[in-house]
Amino acid sequence: MMTMCSMPTPAPVSAKATCDVVPEGDTIFTLAARLRPVLLARPLRVGRLWGMPAHVRDASASADMTLDGRTVRDVETRGKHLLLHLDDDTTLHIHLGMTGRWEVRSLSEPGLGPAPPAASLVFETAFDRIVGTHLPVLERLTAAQLARHAHLRALGPDLLSEHFDGRAVAARFGRALYDPIGVALLDQTLACGIGNVYKSEALFLASIDPWATVAALGPERVAALLEDTRALMRRNLEGDLRRTRRGLDADRYFVYGREGQPCKRCGAPVAMRRQGDLARSTYYCGPCQGVSVQDRTRTTPTGTRTRTRY
Ligand SMILES: [Zn+2]
Repeated sequence: MMTMCSMPTPAPVSAKATCDVVPEGDTIFTLAARLRPVLLARPLRVGRLWGMPAHVRDASASADMTLDGRTVRDVETRGKHLLLHLDDDTTLHIHLGMTGRWEVRSLSEPGLGPAPPAASLVFETAFDRIVGTHLPVLERLTAAQLARHAHLRALGPDLLSEHFDGRAVAARFGRALYDPIGVALLDQTLACGIGNVYKSEALFLASIDPWATVAALGPERVAALLEDTRALMRRNLEGDLRRTRRGLDADRYFVYGREGQPCKRCGAPVAMRRQGDLARSTYYCGPCQGVSVQDRTRTTPTGTRTRTRY
């Protein structure tokens, strides 16, 4: 099956990052850049949505599941969220979670078969077929529903926004002073777009203990960390598979997914521990990041704020 990794149509921005196992902000940003030239101002000859998850069904209960004849007038990203704004003033809100996949194929491609039966979304313009599968969040919102959408409204500034200001966002982290930085970076209400890969890699590159609290780091260091993470993500908006290092060997990451393997800097084994009340995996090098056994097993009060799961 041809996927976003091997699409036939030239793309202005590579979408190969979508092949990474874990979609993060760079994945969605690149996907949006890929979708714009094939969707914008091209009426949908076919527009079908299936299998909306139960937890969003109420929001879309009155929405027509058929979008034939509609046109996508704008493609927007907010962190890890994709918004397709339609010409009838409704919006499709999509999140890939851990399972979502997209493919774009030219309708003129020889041997093009039917869309996969597991598709959540199938769009066909006069030229291309766009298919989304296994999308854990797919909801059609009216303008009013979009405006008061609790989750989207709660999102912090997008790391990939051209207006991102590390100092201003570091001040937002003041509401999570007692959170470990490895937990705070994933809190999409503080800043959105960072997932497990960039969290682990950015903390390693900055030699920061993932269990250090926001308060212990201070606003200057948090601001620098955010700006460095943003730069790391921006370097992955073009090119091949996501990577944070370019070494002589094939490893794309310093620590992520490398538990038990030698640290690229000091040779000590890379470790992995679950962190926070969502038990997200954090990869790190103890010696390089100053993590002691006592540090990584200590419990830190994380307040009562609602966690943002996606
Ligand atoms: Zn090390």
